[in-house]
Amino acid sequence: MADVTLRHVYKVYDGGVRAVNDFDLEIKDKEFVVFVGPSGCGKSTTLRMIAGLEEITAGQLYIDGQLMNEVEPKNRDIAMVFQSYALYPHMTVYDNMAFGLKLRHTPKEEIDRRVRAAAEILEISELLTRKPKALSGGQRQRVALGRTIVRDPKVFLLDEPLSNLDAKLRVSMRSEITKLHEKLETTFIYVTHDQTEAMTMGNRIVVMKDGFIQQADTPITLFEDPCNLFVATFLGSPQMNIIDAELFMDGKQLKAKLNGLDNMVVTFPDIKAKQLANKKYIGQKVLLGIRPEHVRPNEGDLKAFIEVVEHLGDESILYCKMENRKDPFIIKIPFNSKIHANEEINVAFNMDHIYMFDADTHKAIMGIPHEDKIPVRINNNLMQVGEQDIVLEKDFVDHLLDSAFNADIKLAIKPDYITLNKPESEEEKAIALKGKLEFIEQKTDYQAVYFSLAGLEGYFAIKIANGEKVALGKEVELYLPYQRVKLYDEKHNKVNSREIIHPNKGVCTVKTINGMMKINVGGATLTYPNSENYADGRYEITFKQDKLVPIFSKKMLKNNKALTNPEMEAPNKIKVSAYDEDVLGDKLLIYVQIPGFEHYASLVVPNNFSVYKMPKFEMYVPSDAFELKAIK
Ligand code: ADP
Repeated sequence: MADVTLRHVYKVYDGGVRAVNDFDLEIKDKEFVVFVGPSGCGKSTTLRMIAGLEEITAGQLYIDGQLMNEVEPKNRDIAMVFQSYALYPHMTVYDNMAFGLKLRHTPKEEIDRRVRAAAEILEISELLTRKPKALSGGQRQRVALGRTIVRDPKVFLLDEPLSNLDAKLRVSMRSEITKLHEKLETTFIYVTHDQTEAMTMGNRIVVMKDGFIQQADTPITLFEDPCNLFVATFLGSPQMNIIDAELFMDGKQLKAKLNGLDNMVVTFPDIKAKQLANKKYIGQKVLLGIRPEHVRPNEGDLKAFIEVVEHLGDESILYCKMENRKDPFIIKIPFNSKIHANEEINVAFNMDHIYMFDADTHKAIMGIPHEDKIPVRINNNLMQVGEQDIVLEKDFVDHLLDSAFNADIKLAIKPDYITLNKPESEEEKAIALKGKLEFIEQKTDYQAVYFSLAGLEGYFAIKIANGEKVALGKEVELYLPYQRVKLYDEKHNKVNSREIIHPNKGVCTVKTINGMMKINVGGATLTYPNSENYADGRYEITFKQDKLVPIFSKKMLKNNKALTNPEMEAPNKIKVSAYDEDVLGDKLLIYVQIPGFEHYASLVVPNNFSVYKMPKFEMYVPSDAFELKAIK
């Protein structure tokens, strides 16, 4: 057993580079997971945090259910293989492989047994007496793998292990490593920037960009249902063709005028048209995507002028010039030696495989959504979803920010997390929504099932296993686990938190002098005009969640107009220490200890600093940031 779980992991480097944000992933025992993305997207940083070579700024890392954040790398029972294999040149292959075990004082016979077993697995038994300089690049990389195999780790971490090898060797080592994974039956986490490597090796692929996970799915699902334009164009070779288009209705049929392709018109099949995320896109500009293999030559009436042909053995790739289009339009067909450059052909799209993206956000807007999103309103412990009123239990309500209540908010959840069966254990509480099953689309790895919710437009989609039976037109309960539900306000700031939100309540004393009042709280004395005529005495003080202002630099003081008003110049500040933060969007939720308060306070502040860089700081307390209630 060796599952690896990352819970909302962040890495902020010294200097403030946010290299990894909210990395949330469960890697199952024996899984082969690949992190892929362009250079600088945070793959290595994440891997190094798992290895313990890099401190985790925030969030939790579990290996086999045990919290690992503070555990030394050597005690994590993991092995890491790097791109530079750094073998000891003066040692034989045998000694290179045995070295680590010798350091650990493993008995000699045991070392011998393990080295020979590993050499057998890697098919390098006949090389054991050689020195590294007498090995090829591929053999050296195998020895480097051997060095880690002998340690019998629970988890293998591989950081671009093949990037120093030539192209041909890389291809053969790919399958070697896949085979090795099957033989060892251990969890593998593999980092690469090469999409082909990722697609051919991983059971599951985590596509990253700018420090954020874009999508984590099986290769087939990533290919069939990319969640955005980035994933769609990053995976697949040659790349998906992207076309500017405009949607319109022709009677009952959804059609698109291809502005980017000679204004040709295409018609969506019914099953696709129904999957349009939002009717607001009709009449609007969108981006259509069609993979080169889903374009049919010698059909339809779209004219393509072939500029270049690449015959690649089993397939031919055509690079075409099209009217109104700058980029070449790429077509992939089974090998056909009769097709030549400088010819014009007619092509048609296989519309069962069309993709659609929002022209601005680049999110996929047709097909199973990356996240289902529905408007909701919460009042006390009641959540209104269309025509349904849902009672929320204390567990859920305790994680809501003040701004979640009585406001138009959005509930978001990944379709993968929604189930048709009520969770069995008490801990897995879930929101139960009633939905009517409208239609199903069969995918390679799963069935996409689309529901309508009474009183709401659009659809609510879930994924269920192939073979699971469901009945069309029936109303059923859908279960949304509390832990997986995210709530957002109109500005896309999250309004539910990881930690429980306690009321920001403490005790203070008030002393009045000449129309002013002095409040003693949190080890500070705050002075305000006594406009409410409070009497001397003890009060319960409640700080409002979003009114305190953290002071974290002189520049910030200067730039913040609110702080330069005369009242704010008064020394009305409290020293606090923070113990965690939760990025909400352009706001940050910080959990701070105010001296004398029983629980931590939860405060919403701008997202332009991090408490991890500044765990102790001062907070300005404007006069509208608190309420007082006399204690009798
Ligand atoms: P990848 O492996 O995807 O190429 P990295 O994890 O190496 O990306 O880097 C992610 C981001 O963090 C990049 O912007 C990189 O410049 C930055 N970074 C990496 N290591 C450090 C470091 N030691 N100090 C500061 N910034 C770093």
